[in-house]
Amino acid sequence: MKPMVIAIDGPAASGKGTLARRLAVAFNLPYLDTGLLYRAVARRVLDHCADPTDAGAATEEARSLTRIDLDRADLRTSEVDRAASIVASLAPVRAALLDFQRGFAGTKGAVLDGRDIGTIVFPNADVKLFLTASVQERARRRYAERLAQGSQTTLEAVQADLEARDEADRTRNAAPMHPALDAHVLDTSTIDADHAFAAAAAIVNAAKKSLIR
Ligand code: C5P
Repeated sequence: MKPMVIAIDGPAASGKGTLARRLAVAFNLPYLDTGLLYRAVARRVLDHCADPTDAGAATEEARSLTRIDLDRADLRTSEVDRAASIVASLAPVRAALLDFQRGFAGTKGAVLDGRDIGTIVFPNADVKLFLTASVQERARRRYAERLAQGSQTTLEAVQADLEARDEADRTRNAAPMHPALDAHVLDTSTIDADHAFAAAAAIVNAAKKSLIR
């Protein structure tokens, strides 16, 4: 059977990562969090005291990215959130990261999550999911994560950051975030991770059956 590619897109804190990891284990597929690529580029730009809006500097960092950059422990700070969204709006940065994402699925298939996986990176993915949730619920989730990391932020600040990032990701010219026409949209505002997984696994199993036929 042809290896499966499962594309999961959606805004920050919609539950993509949790769902993607569980689907990867359940269907024995490698998993790539593509947000980490943009975060790692942003981290490198900030480390070199460059401006994230500087397309030349950011593209250079995207081209120099290594797997070690993805393992850094300091990729999930508010500063990196904002800078990642800025470098992700630059078309040459996105182009520099495309081959790695496509190559990742290789011969084994993969689960990838991000903003443009079902629309740009894998427009022919076997399964496309687009996760959403109300901004209030997503802010509550992200705030709890930040508190657990020891951050001093407030719920209001986290929500304002999410709203700004959603707006930037949705309205940019390069690969704006939106559900692919053939994506299954799952609203996780009022369902827990187990329910989201059950709904998604049913969709993947149905797609698997049609691949075998
Ligand atoms: O998913 P995460 O919140 O870690 O992504 C960080 C930022 O990277 C997003 O706000 C978005 O701007 C960018 N991103 C993207 N395309 C992807 C994954 C992430 O533009 N496929």
